[in-house]
Amino acid sequence: MISADATLVVRAPAHTPLDTIEQFVGKNTDWIKRTLARLQKRPQVKQKQFVRGEEFLFLGESHPLEVQNDTDQPLDLRDGFILNAKEQSRGRELFIEWYKNEAKKIIAARVEWWAQRFCLAYKSVNITCANRRWGSCAPNDRLNFSWRLVMAPISVIDYVVVHELAHITHKNHSRRFWNRVEAMYPDHKDAKTWLRENEGMLNL
Ligand SMILES: [Zn+2]
Repeated sequence: MISADATLVVRAPAHTPLDTIEQFVGKNTDWIKRTLARLQKRPQVKQKQFVRGEEFLFLGESHPLEVQNDTDQPLDLRDGFILNAKEQSRGRELFIEWYKNEAKKIIAARVEWWAQRFCLAYKSVNITCANRRWGSCAPNDRLNFSWRLVMAPISVIDYVVVHELAHITHKNHSRRFWNRVEAMYPDHKDAKTWLRENEGMLNL
């Protein structure tokens, strides 16, 4: 596999001879080159430093960070994000807390709206720290969503919400499930493409 940061990872059983692995890599160089080229074209996955001028996503829009001395809140979003200089070392923690808080409000409201529209009953909405799993629907119809999703445009959030709500009726990814998603949210393909191309950006 090739991970999101464009590192090649070859997994093999513990006793696989090295030349077998090398042969495997040799046979797959075309695929490896193609995949690496595609990944390198995608927006870069870069660890945030929480410094002035750095950009942070919220609902698909990029906002620059300001670090200021006299602010009443540790972190706030006005024209851009404003981080209290005294809290700079806690930047990551504060951003996660902020995103989680917004995710809870925004995603819960979108779930409620779509559930009412299609007369679906869910148990609860929970916000998780999942890395790549944007949402899930438990057997008891409790819905989970990653806080990272609030970095994405609302149209993408809506797709994930509709996807999980559709699992209330179909607990699988069968043809009937996808037909249901298609009927509820005809733009689902665009949202899926956006997630595939930008997932590396939905991180700190
Ligand atoms: Zn699913």
